[in-house]
Amino acid sequence: METYPPIYIGPALTIAALRNYIIDTALVEDQLVLMHPSDYDELALEYRETYNEHLPAPYMLLSVEIGASEKIWVPPGRVRVVEQNRSPHVTKQDYLSNSSPEEVYRCGYCGNVVDYDGAQLDTGVRQRKIYAIQTNDAVVVTEVHGYCCPQES
Ligand SMILES: [Zn+2]
Repeated sequence: METYPPIYIGPALTIAALRNYIIDTALVEDQLVLMHPSDYDELALEYRETYNEHLPAPYMLLSVEIGASEKIWVPPGRVRVVEQNRSPHVTKQDYLSNSSPEEVYRCGYCGNVVDYDGAQLDTGVRQRKIYAIQTNDAVVVTEVHGYCCPQES
């Protein structure tokens, strides 16, 4: 988590000032704007008076989160931008745990890759499954009685 120095963005930390700041500096989703808790209370008050609703939590302005600072010191009247690194590189482990495994059915007699009922697969599907086995992707292999070995029973 990277933190930038406190920044002065204008005489008042209003919704309009924050919106302009986000646009001017092209902040993006992974960045969080922190304010002193008393400034955040002021913002909540302005929000309530403007929209007749409570400030949502988390408060997202132009898809950037605005928050009251608790652990990081922000002087009153200033904001600090924090990099959240919310989109880390997706590891293979994450990928595997988030996707269903390739189900492969093999003939129990000759090992041929077949359909779940032992029938012949379309060439493209068969090649994809063979590729999945070769590359050790998440594969669940089940043995079935293949069309290829009708005489075995
Ligand atoms: Zn077979």
